[in-house]
Amino acid sequence: MFQKKYISLYLLSIIFALFAFQFNEIKTDKVDSKTQSSEKKYKTKYLIVFVIDGPRYSETFGDSTYSLIPRMGKELKKKGVLFTNFMNNGVTHTCPGHTAIMTGVYQSITNDGKELPKQPSFMQYYLKEKGADKNDAWVISSKGKLQVLANTKNKKWRDSYQPNSYCGLNGNGLDYVGDAITWKKIEEVFSCSTPKLMLINFLEADVKGHENKWEAYKQGIKDCDQYVYKLWNMIQSNPQMKDQTTLLVTNDHGRHLDGHKNGFINHGDKCKGCKHISLLAMGPDFKKNVIIDKGGELIDISKTIAEMFHFDMPSSKGRILNEMFEN
Ligand SMILES: [Zn+2]
Ligand SMILES: [Zn+2]
Repeated sequence: MFQKKYISLYLLSIIFALFAFQFNEIKTDKVDSKTQSSEKKYKTKYLIVFVIDGPRYSETFGDSTYSLIPRMGKELKKKGVLFTNFMNNGVTHTCPGHTAIMTGVYQSITNDGKELPKQPSFMQYYLKEKGADKNDAWVISSKGKLQVLANTKNKKWRDSYQPNSYCGLNGNGLDYVGDAITWKKIEEVFSCSTPKLMLINFLEADVKGHENKWEAYKQGIKDCDQYVYKLWNMIQSNPQMKDQTTLLVTNDHGRHLDGHKNGFINHGDKCKGCKHISLLAMGPDFKKNVIIDKGGELIDISKTIAEMFHFDMPSSKGRILNEMFEN
């Protein structure tokens, strides 16, 4: 009788001990996952990629006097990180360059806006993962052909999770339109909403280069410098975006170097002038006034955005640009 009682007490205490152990495990799990997510916490809630189409590095950050980019070279650079060895290591044309930024894959996509990227963009991954509205992501481009960036030919993703877009004349995906009109569209979008992700393309420098107009090409770079400055100030004066917005300024490609038979007029091969671009990254999560000469490339942008916004982007072939983050 006594023995039976002891056995059942013994069994009860084992069950209790097991239960307590289990409970403790669950508690520890919770703590662990909390620490993990707080380690990865970023202040950035909004992000804009500003693509200045086709200036050479020698006319932007490669000129130590920053004569064409005084705002970025002298003021904005202090607010973030500048990658001086940033590259387009794929095809150095507009559609392929922008496709590398959006999808993290170098693809020999045609440059006429008639082919869709093979892989989904970081915007599609974001919209799917967050179940977000399409107005949370925007492609706004002076070049109509960049409308292709809002979709993919990947069967699993095609016509799904597409960002909003306004590309070219009247936003219809055709023709080119002046950057001043594109800027108006950007202002309009921000006046009625605050998109989480945006990609902007400004064309003036590239178009004037192709027209063999050296002075107008340089003016195009100067104008873009002013637009980037205006955008940065617009962010700072928006209480919701201030201190929570990252601005990445980059290029889709450069142009041939002076010794090349086409000089600055064209681009599209693997010469240093065409490949060498830059990345200026400003935002609450980045180091300030730092120059990084370690290499980076266009495909890294998407992987870095995926990290900052906490979604997976398995099809991107880039790497996270860890060296630009604070701590
Ligand atoms: Zn271009
Ligand atoms: Zn070239």
